[in-house]
Amino acid sequence: MFLSNSDLVELVAFRRELHRAPEISGEERETAKAVLGFLTPSKPDQIVTDLGGHGVAAIYEGSEPGPTVLVRCELDALPIEELSESEHRSQVPGKGHLCGHDGHMAIVAALSRGLGRSRPRRGRAILLFQPAEETGAGAAAVIADGKFEEIAPDYAFSLHNRPGLPLGYVALSEGYANCASRGLRIVLTGHTSHASTPEHGLSPMTAVAKLMPALTALGPGGALDEDYALVTVTHAAMGEPAFGIAPGRAEIWATLRTLTDAQMGALCERAEGLVRQAAAESGLSVETDYHDVFHHCENNPEAVALLRQALDDEKMAHGPTASPSRGSEDFGLFGRKAKSAMFLLGSGESSPHLHNPDYDFPDDIIAPGARVFMRTLRNLLG
Ligand SMILES: [Zn+2]
Ligand SMILES: [Zn+2]
Repeated sequence: MFLSNSDLVELVAFRRELHRAPEISGEERETAKAVLGFLTPSKPDQIVTDLGGHGVAAIYEGSEPGPTVLVRCELDALPIEELSESEHRSQVPGKGHLCGHDGHMAIVAALSRGLGRSRPRRGRAILLFQPAEETGAGAAAVIADGKFEEIAPDYAFSLHNRPGLPLGYVALSEGYANCASRGLRIVLTGHTSHASTPEHGLSPMTAVAKLMPALTALGPGGALDEDYALVTVTHAAMGEPAFGIAPGRAEIWATLRTLTDAQMGALCERAEGLVRQAAAESGLSVETDYHDVFHHCENNPEAVALLRQALDDEKMAHGPTASPSRGSEDFGLFGRKAKSAMFLLGSGESSPHLHNPDYDFPDDIIAPGARVFMRTLRNLLG
């Protein structure tokens, strides 16, 4: 074990400090500062800041040539009010670290202690603190940032804590790990009119009433195979909350979800076709756009084998995942640049679920998560 008891005390305090001061996607300025403060004593050979937003990367170089291995965690919290009596509960109204990214940061920060004391023999180890995971924008922004060209990893690893799995147990499989998803926003426009003379206006009501069930029927869910499609209408609004006005405008928001990016393309075409048809039937004009675009996440077999070797070396319990996750994860994009894999680290069978108002990352899994990454780094880089 590369962490001392005093390291662990420091890491738990760091996790709780982050938990108290959550910042949402794109606003992680103070979180990035806190990370920088934690990393600096380990004297990285280089620190890259403002990477794809508030991203931070610490680089530890070996003296011999070798691969570049990146370990990634996320900086952002959620716009959800935390419900907790704990001393380290969120001090920011309406915001909370309810996905456990505070714990992921503590795990990756732990690696700085090991790498600071003993550099890799070959290649480079990169600790990446990525912004804006929850909106799906962060990984793309990091990769698109010119500063990422210098980083260019050969391997990329990440983890997500997983309520429902035993504390510290690891689940990991080759192939599809997370679904692709994206938010479709539909704006239907007609004309408002006086409620007493609706014939003088053009209401989107019929189109809205048709589209909500029709979109839902495009994606009935079912088995998580390559044909999987799930459409969830998440929001709808029409006109104003008034009795005197017949509506002239409506919005529908729906989340589209598939196992593969290829299938997502087909689902978008079908959804847009339905929308155009319903708008045309009512004589409405229509605009659509996409938000929170996540690509599918696929685990590379060689990267999975490296993690399994590390888990065996650390004598940690692990097994395959039950199925790919329906949830999305923008780590998938790193898989286009590097051999990448993400594992699930159990946060306890009785833990509240992610994004629930009472979720709190268990400090007990900081050390197990850090051990898997550190062993993987040492096995690859010495
Ligand atoms: Zn989340
Ligand atoms: Zn998360």
